[in-house]
Amino acid sequence: MDCNRCDDEAVMHAAYSGAHLCEDHFRESVEKRVRRRVRRDDLVPQDATPDDPETWVIGLSGGKDSVVLTQILHDTFAEDPRIELVGLTIHEGIEGYRDKSVDACVELTDDLEIRHELVSYAEEFGVRMDDVVEDDPENMAACAYCGVFRRDILERYADEYGADLLLTGHNLDDEAQTALMNFLEGDVAQIAKHFDASLGPLSEREDQDDFIPRAKPLRDVPEKEVALYAHLNDLPAHITECPHASEAYRGEIQQLLYDLEENHPGTRHSILSGYEELAQMAATEFNGDNEDGADLQECEQCGSMTTRNVCRKCSLLETLV
Ligand code: SF4
Ligand SMILES: [Zn+2]
Ligand SMILES: [Zn+2]
Repeated sequence: MDCNRCDDEAVMHAAYSGAHLCEDHFRESVEKRVRRRVRRDDLVPQDATPDDPETWVIGLSGGKDSVVLTQILHDTFAEDPRIELVGLTIHEGIEGYRDKSVDACVELTDDLEIRHELVSYAEEFGVRMDDVVEDDPENMAACAYCGVFRRDILERYADEYGADLLLTGHNLDDEAQTALMNFLEGDVAQIAKHFDASLGPLSEREDQDDFIPRAKPLRDVPEKEVALYAHLNDLPAHITECPHASEAYRGEIQQLLYDLEENHPGTRHSILSGYEELAQMAATEFNGDNEDGADLQECEQCGSMTTRNVCRKCSLLETLV
């Protein structure tokens, strides 16, 4: 089958759009979607200047998503002195998993000549995920611990590097899953928060003084296309799955979405675009309405912002040592 835009052979077919694209036109289409998202989400502020550049910290795991995001942002902004990129990699202490993906991060950031920082749970918290999983004092899934620690590091270090934005490589499948999970949980306040924390255009979000805004510019690109892009560009992405991956509910939703997408191409796109519209309405409705009284204060132990006296990370660490 030929490419829809030239006479070359197509390397992919997207059932949701009907497009057949050759290698070059496929690459171009992925890059276009990411750049369009950067524009629509207003990620580059009007007042950014070469003298006062914006610092964008990318959560760089070494998996295909964050590697592709880093590569495309680099290609887009390498010549733009208003944006400085920093790759932040977190080593959770998972045998046989993270070491290789750290190598991928080092290779990529060396190639692109962007600043790279590596932080580990062992150095930060004195714990490794392999040991946490073994102890499991709270009887929780591995990812429940890991997510708390990761969020803490991302936020603290992004702050230390003077980040204006914290970017992650969530793709369309990830975000459609999260949207559907939030729908099914019926937690509208959570949906409103999602808009202000990472989904809405920066200029339309409620001010989040205590948090660095997040952005997910890869969220229009399906997971398979991210993988194909990484492969065609020969990017140093590391593919193995974490041995502790344990989000059972997300797995169910993922399967449901695969089946729906198969029979009704375009389902992921429509879930996400509808969700974003609703999230915006919910955010407008909830703005300034802090009725759950969840005022933020500094954690007594580490000083990070939390709704309790001691933050979740510090209380988890107490049970671990
Ligand atoms: S899959 Fe879970 S345990 Fe593994 S790195 Fe991701 S969050 Fe951590
Ligand atoms: Zn073509
Ligand atoms: Zn704390």
